[in-house]
Amino acid sequence: MTPKIARYLAEQQPATPCLIVDVDRVADRYHALQEAMPLAHIYYAVKANPAQAILERLVALGSSFDAASIGEVRMCLDAGASADRVSFGNTVKKVSAIREAFALGVDLFVFDSEEELAKLAEHAPGARVYCRLAVENEGADWPLSRKFGTTLDHGRDLMLRARTLGLDPYGLSFHVGSQQTDTAAYEAAIARVAMLFTDLSAAGLNLRMVNLGGGFPVRYQSDVPEIDQFGLAIGHAMTRHFGNDLPTMLIEPGRFLVGDAGVVSSEVVLVSRRGGAETDPRWVYLDIGRFGGLAETEGEAIRYRFQTPHDGQATGPTVVAGPSCDGVDIMYEKRRVELPMALTSGDRVELLSTGAYVSTYCSTGFNGFAPLSEHYI
Ligand SMILES: *Cc1c(COP(=O)(O)O)cnc(C)c1O
Repeated sequence: MTPKIARYLAEQQPATPCLIVDVDRVADRYHALQEAMPLAHIYYAVKANPAQAILERLVALGSSFDAASIGEVRMCLDAGASADRVSFGNTVKKVSAIREAFALGVDLFVFDSEEELAKLAEHAPGARVYCRLAVENEGADWPLSRKFGTTLDHGRDLMLRARTLGLDPYGLSFHVGSQQTDTAAYEAAIARVAMLFTDLSAAGLNLRMVNLGGGFPVRYQSDVPEIDQFGLAIGHAMTRHFGNDLPTMLIEPGRFLVGDAGVVSSEVVLVSRRGGAETDPRWVYLDIGRFGGLAETEGEAIRYRFQTPHDGQATGPTVVAGPSCDGVDIMYEKRRVELPMALTSGDRVELLSTGAYVSTYCSTGFNGFAPLSEHYI
């Protein structure tokens, strides 16, 4: 947690559950990423945290944006981004969304299917389009490969068809999966994409762009490689496969820019030995859970770090659950969390690095619990 957040929590004691985000930290991460990958254009993946304070700071820093819906497109424009800095990066778009985005000046759209390409040709005529390819998501804690992207062969057909339909076949994209902890995933994906890029260029298409997606990790419970290591691996792979003729490189970081800029502050509602015996598992119920924004604990995939008033004292394995009456509202049970035995109801517990994929995953009032409040400082 940054000193600014620590001070804010101590002085303000905001009501829980709440999310505190240090927007200066987002700017620091943006600069670190720029330094690690000086040739890449940063398109912030808005879905990670669309707070206006974050979007406005990134606009001021010169960032571009990856929007997944017409709502996100509008948020970027409202924050001051010009339309030529917005990419409509969802392969699944309503016709009404395509039409409105195009009318607003957005000129960069992704697709991975015939029907989406036909929609784009009709409702965003002449726009720059890029095809998303499916790549291995091995090494990612939050994979995305089953739902998006197509094969090299199909991508080739689609890109050729894009030209026939009067669109501008601009480039190719992939996503190696979110919270990707292996730099080799990018190298393997770049090798794949380069094959098709070269092939399509030989077929006469004027491809100019490779979109490397997001995936860059933040530290939760385990260490992850530094961003410089990703930069080096990507830089080497790009020059190995494209030589001196580098295409425009886009990256779409979400988690990396905002994840460790945020802290969730929560309250222990109950500590319970289910069954009553000392040997029975100890459960800690917090006032935030799966429906309060911690959706990425699904499958116990993302493992947040906890900070408590009793840190440094004796700990025991603990099941951590949310406050609602839903049985799936359990964050960590299969792999328990070591939490202090002294923990008791009323204690404040902080969940670290929760700036990404928390605020907007919060339900609107399931079980009558108010959505978590947000503080951008
Ligand atoms: C979610 C998403 C991102 C951001 O991924 P992170 O792992 O948060 O960096 C980038 N691009 C696309 C297309 C996405 O869907």
